[in-house]
Amino acid sequence: MSYAANDKRYLTMKYNKCGNSGLKLSAISLGLWHNFGGSDSFENSRALIHSAFDLGITHFDIANNYGPPPGSAEENFGKILKQDLSSYRDELVISTKAGYGMWPGPYGDFGSKKYLVASLDQSLKRTGLDYVDIFYHHRPDPSTPLEETMGALDLIVKQGKALYVGLSNYKPAETKKASAILKKLGTPCLIHQPSYSMFNRWIEDGLQEVLEEEGIGSIAFKPLEQGLLTTKYLNGIPKDSRAAGSSVFLHSKDITQIKLEKVAKLNIMAMERGQTLPQLALAWVLRGNKVTSALIGASKVSQIEDNVAAINNLDFTSEELLRIEQILA
Ligand code: NDP
Repeated sequence: MSYAANDKRYLTMKYNKCGNSGLKLSAISLGLWHNFGGSDSFENSRALIHSAFDLGITHFDIANNYGPPPGSAEENFGKILKQDLSSYRDELVISTKAGYGMWPGPYGDFGSKKYLVASLDQSLKRTGLDYVDIFYHHRPDPSTPLEETMGALDLIVKQGKALYVGLSNYKPAETKKASAILKKLGTPCLIHQPSYSMFNRWIEDGLQEVLEEEGIGSIAFKPLEQGLLTTKYLNGIPKDSRAAGSSVFLHSKDITQIKLEKVAKLNIMAMERGQTLPQLALAWVLRGNKVTSALIGASKVSQIEDNVAAINNLDFTSEELLRIEQILA
């Protein structure tokens, strides 16, 4: 079946300016960490991308190692792009990353110039893209000088292989230092990609302040705690959930009674606001316009539809915010 995008796709989504840049990102973005690999259903992956784009999601986030096997999410995205979305390339913001182990030997991991330049060249081949919109250093590298890693990001932009650069999983002080180097080189850091959710609030402890000072945008990954901030685990572990599947990143032991009690209370609050729980969790991440975009994952089209509707109610009263604090305490 050939694909034609929904012509109403820009009517409802919100687009937020990313830091001090001229780039806007959809308030909800889609990540390809799970459900886009070589062992996943290609037709389902394709349907997920179509439904996201039809609902106004313009930003798709990948990394060199997403799969499994590593690289296969980029390959599958490249196929979908070629087959269905090539005429929409300029409506898309596509990111990839390097920083985790990708190939054997000393040059396939962390943050050397050797690794980053070669990895992006591989990513461009796998996706069939001429350039990516955002290239990230995926995690800090304690043994490579920050000047070398930031120099590699700057080089990649000057070579035209990426339009913007970002940092992921960098702590506040490292971010500040990296940002200063990038500014000096003339390639300011566009965006930071940290984990952030109601259950994981480390960025409130300094990082958000640094991002504000430096004019860097942010995109929150795992905003639903891999599905924990939905109602799916309230009555056991469903067979078709991430916790029951082959992912090594969410285990049944992570789904504790304490968390489930909080989830149940948050769910009551979501219902009172006329929202689903994932909608409440995403609206909370986006509250106060500090975060540019919430980076969701999805295994089903219905989840994307559910999550995108979060933008219909992003406002909280101070009483609601206080009640959430009490539930999360
Ligand atoms: P989420 O916290 O959004 O979890 C997504 C999972 O939750 C889905 O795959 C689905 O799991 C479940 N889910 C989503 N929406 C609903 C819904 N409405 N109702 C019920 N269940 C739902 O994010 P991810 O953990 O997937 O991470 C998102 C992205 O963040 C990644 O794809 C990647 O791009 C990025 N990321 C970046 C990292 C980094 O180091 N920079 C690290 C990790 C992620 P189920 O299978 O159970 O249906």
